[in-house]
Amino acid sequence: MIRDEDRQQLRSTMFLIGAEELGGLVTIEAAMPAIEQAMRDLSQDECIAPQRWTMALDRTAKMGFMPGALPSVGQFGIKVLSLFDASSRGDLPSHQGVMLLFDMKDGRPLCALDAAALTSLRTAAATAIATRALARPDSETLAIIGCGDLAQPHLAAMKSILPRRRVFIWNRTRERAELFAEHHGKDMDLILCDTPADAVRDADVVCTLTSARTPILSGEDFRPGQHINLVGSSVAEAREVDGATIARSRYFVDSRSHAISQAGELRDAIERGLLGEDHISGEIGEVLTGRVTGRQNAEETTIYKSLGHVVQDLAVANLAYTAAIGLPAMPPPQTVRRTVPPPRSEPFVAG
Ligand code: NDP
Repeated sequence: MIRDEDRQQLRSTMFLIGAEELGGLVTIEAAMPAIEQAMRDLSQDECIAPQRWTMALDRTAKMGFMPGALPSVGQFGIKVLSLFDASSRGDLPSHQGVMLLFDMKDGRPLCALDAAALTSLRTAAATAIATRALARPDSETLAIIGCGDLAQPHLAAMKSILPRRRVFIWNRTRERAELFAEHHGKDMDLILCDTPADAVRDADVVCTLTSARTPILSGEDFRPGQHINLVGSSVAEAREVDGATIARSRYFVDSRSHAISQAGELRDAIERGLLGEDHISGEIGEVLTGRVTGRQNAEETTIYKSLGHVVQDLAVANLAYTAAIGLPAMPPPQTVRRTVPPPRSEPFVAG
């Protein structure tokens, strides 16, 4: 039981929430409803979310900035990232950095969180939400394409929504897939595949989680009725699937404006004249609010294009902070409706 004076003390303390601590404070299952609400807020223009942007450090390294405010949880903040190519960061995470969380009532800084752990958690939870909203309800099997840092949280997130545990996995470097199967294959049927196409063939749900710059899957690799989460290609110049895959699918996004400027596969397909911006069927928040119909039948292929969004970071950071301080979530202040023009800067190039 926290005493009143301790609560006061806690309220004036700024917390540092590291990677391990975050995992203990917020589960993927707990993150999902919070992110769902954030995605609804985003699609109803009830948050402040300018375009993210980057500052180049050299040819292989950037700093990324993702500011935003989520009035429904009473907080605003910024995720600051270092985005280094694998060649220079070695085994370190693709998204290292810090999320800073502030109180919208009085502007106090509340906490700083490990951005790598936060990004992995929120990205996987967002993928699971989209899958639940768009995949066929009878979906059972999963394909994980890419066994980097995002693979484990995605596997965990999918466990909570797919009843059967048959998972096809592929990784460019086979040893990494073998290691992944060794670590995570104890309580489920993990099947190692030789090619990405082999992995997706019998999967109802596909998650692409690679840093591939050119397509590793094409339209003919997929069959009707599948749901595909395109997560890894979160930079404008990256593509994990080809234009034919996009053209044959109903295509949903986390943020329409971000997708138009930064979704590599969509931009490429538009440039090739295969389709137009109106190919975007809707934002996931619009599906969740019922404004847009998600899957229409068992035959169509659906895609969720995940670029990652600061409202997802804010939603999970709020959960972690309130759990750390042992208080219920702060009551939301009056809803802010405001459109902020994107800053004049280079578009952000990573999730
Ligand atoms: P990791 O560096 O941990 O893993 C990268 C993965 O991509 C590895 O499986 C690697 O295979 C694979 N890969 C790299 N290049 C290629 C290629 N040319 N063809 C096929 N596979 C390749 O990164 P993360 O798991 O943290 O992130 C994966 C991707 O997701 C990144 O591109 C990242 O920017 C993006 N991302 C997207 C987010 C979103 O919100 N949508 C959030 C966070 C990250 P190998 O083992 O052989 O090297």
